[in-house]
Amino acid sequence: RNLPCDPNTDNTRRQVTGACYSRVNPKPVVAPGLVAFSSESAQLMDLTDEACQSELFTRVFTGNHLLPGMDPFAMCYGGHQFGNWAGQLGDGRAINLGEIINQRNERWVLQLKGAGPTPYSRTADGLAVLRSSIREFLCSEAMFHLGIPTTRALSLTLTGEEVERDMFYDGHPKLEQGAVVCRMAPSFIRFGNFQILVARGENCLLKRLVDYTIETDFPHLISTSQSVYERWFREVCMRTMDMIIHWMRVGFVHGVMNTDNMSILGLTIDYGPYGWLEDYNPGWTPNTTDLAGRRYCFGNQPQIALWNLAQLGNAVFPMVKRHESLQEALDEAQAYVQQGQLAMMTQKLGFQNFEPDMDIAIIKELLKILQLAETDYTIFLRGLSHLDTEDGLAKTLIPSFLENAFYDPDQITPDYIARLNAWLAVYQKRLGLNRISNADKKQQMDQVNPKYVLRNYLAQTAIDKAEDGDFSMVRELLDVMRKPYDEQPGREMFAAKRPEWARNRPGCSMLSCSS
Ligand code: AMP
Ligand code: MG
Ligand code: MG
Repeated sequence: RNLPCDPNTDNTRRQVTGACYSRVNPKPVVAPGLVAFSSESAQLMDLTDEACQSELFTRVFTGNHLLPGMDPFAMCYGGHQFGNWAGQLGDGRAINLGEIINQRNERWVLQLKGAGPTPYSRTADGLAVLRSSIREFLCSEAMFHLGIPTTRALSLTLTGEEVERDMFYDGHPKLEQGAVVCRMAPSFIRFGNFQILVARGENCLLKRLVDYTIETDFPHLISTSQSVYERWFREVCMRTMDMIIHWMRVGFVHGVMNTDNMSILGLTIDYGPYGWLEDYNPGWTPNTTDLAGRRYCFGNQPQIALWNLAQLGNAVFPMVKRHESLQEALDEAQAYVQQGQLAMMTQKLGFQNFEPDMDIAIIKELLKILQLAETDYTIFLRGLSHLDTEDGLAKTLIPSFLENAFYDPDQITPDYIARLNAWLAVYQKRLGLNRISNADKKQQMDQVNPKYVLRNYLAQTAIDKAEDGDFSMVRELLDVMRKPYDEQPGREMFAAKRPEWARNRPGCSMLSCSS
């Protein structure tokens, strides 16, 4: 909404009331350059690789050229940040170009991240730097190939312009290369899009946005029955928890689970200071801003998702007739994520079905053992599939298939080895209850225990090279992450545990929100 502006009193960005979005065009840049694109995302737009390599593609997806029919806009949303209501946030550096219906009749919204300021940029510049854009680009596609609901990334481009970020300890702003990622999703609507409307008492607009969302993204819920809002809320709860169970399966830590970073479709969205578990530690957070509270650490993610869903429940409260249905959905979601995590661990361990009497104890003891010595979550669970039901276990040795999983040799004491082997013996006996061959069991385990994840130090190494103009590792990581569950001979180095030099290096273990 354009309100008259009195330059003497107020020339800052103001609140956008009575609207769900604002029209705004991307800011043209001086020297657009393509760094990488995702063929799989391009296919969703019916684009060939050749089309993605054209000059027009680069110009469109850095924001220099609008195609006929594009009517760009930024969305208004609010959110709870670290548990506190933050008021209006909005697409501060994201601009939607529009949506396309592809040949498969799927709808995809195209969104540029880092293409210039919007009415929601507050005091910031609307831009993004290369390092964070590489992280978003690679991780979006890595998550997709892992089978995890996520927004997608089509392209990564350079703007040819410099962006100021204060990164230096000497007080001088560091200049970094500007970049743009084109993201894709059926919808980028977040919990916060609903929250901001109810916070302002704009209940008519709230109803329109909810109705629009249901019609567009949840059409299967529309029926003559009255309870569509109740059923919609329940479905959002379940989709969110499905996503969380996947995160817990692969060791992904989002890092900033604010309600403005929660997709209404249950997609992983806004890849900022995220990270991947190296040694299994439920208290680990990749976000330096979260060190004091560890609100968004790995092990808290299910609880935080529930808290965020409760905030969404508060937002849609005025629309729901039977208010208890909201609490019922939350209770159901809580039980669902607890059960779901057990079922997920059962699958990771290769058991054909979940036998609570045995399996809960087996899982609990495993998660304890994983914390007695620094143990790589991904390597340990991937390695476990090598254990056959009739293999002999030495009581005084680490089995060879687990040898690579440990970070600190000093922690591998005789007591530790004995406890691990005692667990392995129980585990192996439990495996014996399966009615499938060892080969089939291994194959099933390898489909849920990835070999390749976007380890923090790998992304950082690719970033270091890219900042010096060498994008080969960005492209190679994109390719490796295409087949995370496959053995990829010759690429074992991308499955290796974090080297010691990376233990405390910024970007390799912890990240700030600066991006
Ligand atoms: P995030 O912590 O990345 O989820 O961002 C929180 C809010 O800050 C969102 O509304 C973003 O759009 C906004 N924001 C983050 N970085 C920038 C930036 N460089 N320019 C403008 N807005 C930004
Ligand atoms: Mg965000
Ligand atoms: Mg350098």
